[in-house]
Amino acid sequence: MSERAAPFFCPYCGDEDLRPNEQGHGAWECAACSRAFQLKFLGLLAPATSSDTSGGEET
Ligand SMILES: [Zn+2]
Repeated sequence: MSERAAPFFCPYCGDEDLRPNEQGHGAWECAACSRAFQLKFLGLLAPATSSDTSGGEET
């Protein structure tokens, strides 16, 4: 099982008629507005820690 991020709505027209595009992983095309787009995983967000800048790293 690969990690796929499946969009639920087209980011351009909001339609739900999305289908995978042959461009590659994360590529989708919208049948409603005929747009192809690609989702890109940018990375994980930094863990939400308290912004304590005093330099104390507690483990
Ligand atoms: Zn669309």
